[in-house]
Amino acid sequence: MVEGNEPLIPMSAPDIGDREIQAVTDVLRSGILSLGPHLEEFERGMASFIGADHAVGVSSGTSGLHLSLLACGCRPGNFVVTTPFSFIASANAILHAGCIPLFVDVDPLTGNIDPELLRQLKDGVLRDGKIPEDALPPSLRVLPISEREMGSVGAVLPVHVFGQPADMNMVCSTARELDCAVIEDACEAIGSEYRGKKAGNWGHAAVFAFYPNKQMTTAEGGMVVTDDAHIDAVLRSLRNQGRGPDSEWLQHERLGFNYRMSELSAALGTVQLSRLSDLIAARAQVAGWYSERLSDLSDVVVPSISKDTSSMSWFVYVVRFSSPSVQERVRKDLSARRLPSRQYFPVIHLQRHYRDRFGYAPGAFPMAEELADVSLALPFSSVMTESDVDLVCDVMRETLSKAER
Ligand SMILES: *Cc1c(COP(=O)(O)O)cnc(C)c1O
Repeated sequence: MVEGNEPLIPMSAPDIGDREIQAVTDVLRSGILSLGPHLEEFERGMASFIGADHAVGVSSGTSGLHLSLLACGCRPGNFVVTTPFSFIASANAILHAGCIPLFVDVDPLTGNIDPELLRQLKDGVLRDGKIPEDALPPSLRVLPISEREMGSVGAVLPVHVFGQPADMNMVCSTARELDCAVIEDACEAIGSEYRGKKAGNWGHAAVFAFYPNKQMTTAEGGMVVTDDAHIDAVLRSLRNQGRGPDSEWLQHERLGFNYRMSELSAALGTVQLSRLSDLIAARAQVAGWYSERLSDLSDVVVPSISKDTSSMSWFVYVVRFSSPSVQERVRKDLSARRLPSRQYFPVIHLQRHYRDRFGYAPGAFPMAEELADVSLALPFSSVMTESDVDLVCDVMRETLSKAER
C-alpha cells in the first residue's frame, strides 16, 4: 500500500515496560521455558488478586473456556446458556465441548444477559422442560420435543461484556434452580466488581484472557480461577495432555489437550499483574476523556455503568449512535482520517458457522442485533494520550454536526 495508510493511533496497544522486558529475558536465560516457577508464581498471584482458592494458567481465554466447560461437567448434547453479543470465543468454546449454545438476548443498557429473559427461560425449563422458542436454535425447533434433550442445561456462561459484570445474583440463583454450573466469561473484566465482589468470584469457574488488547497481557494466555479443588485438578490434568498430578511424563489418565501457558507468558503476566491497578486507572482516565468530550453530542450515547458495577475495569470504549447510518458515517469519516474504529460486536448467531449449523436468521435476538448495528468501539488503551482522544473526538464532532444540518 502507499505510505500514509498506517493508522495515526492504534485500535488497541499493550503497555509493556522495562520490567516486562527484563522478566522475559531472564526466563530465556534460565533455560526453563515451560512448567516452571513463573507459572506457579503467576497462578498464586492471580488466585490472590481475585480471591479464589485456585488459579490455572492456560494458553488462551478460549482454551480456558473450553476446559472450564469440561471440568464443570458439561457433556455433549447439553445446552449452555449464554448471550449472542460477545466475542465469538464464548460460544465457540461451547461448541468445542460438544454442547449447544442456548442464546438469551441482552439488556440494552449494558449488553449483558437480560435478567428478565433469563428468568423466563428458567421458568420454561423448570415448568415443563420447554425452552422458549426464541432461545432455541431454529434447527432444533423443528425436532420433536423428545429429541431436543430438553431441560439438560449443563451451565450458564454469562459474559461480562466490555468489562462490566453481568447480573450475577440473577445468574447464580437461576443456575442453582436449574442445578447447573456457572462459568463466568470474565475475559474482558479483570479487576471489575459486581456489588463489591470481584468478577471471577461468583461462578464455579471463571476465565480471564491476556491477549494484547486486554487490560493486561501475556502475549497469548488465559487463566481459570475456581474455589473447587476437584475442578482445579481436572483443569490441570486437561491442560497438560491428561496427565495426573503424580503421573510419569508419558502416562495419561484422561483425554487431554496441550493448553499450557509458557514460562515467558507467565513471567510477563506476573509483572503486568503487579501493575494492574495502574493499568486499569489509566484506562479509566482515557474513558473519562472520551465521555467528557462526547456526552453532549446529541447523536451519541456514551457507555452507561450499572449501579451494581461497584468497580469498572474498562476493556474497550464503545459508544452508540442514534442509527446504523450515523454509525456507518462516523466509521467512514474516522477511517478517512486514518483513525481506526470497530463494530463491537457483530452478533454471534449471525456469523456464518452459526447460521449454517443452527439456521439462525436476522431477528432472532433483536436487542443484540440492534446494539451491534449502532455500536462502535473507539481506539482505546492505557497508553493513549489526551490529544489522541481529541483527535478522535474532533472528527466525530465534525461528522455529527454535518449530519445535523
Ligand atoms: C478475549 C475474549 C475471549 C478469548 O480470549 P483469547 O485469549 O483471545 O482466546 C473470550 N471471550 C471474550 C468475551 C473475550 O473478549
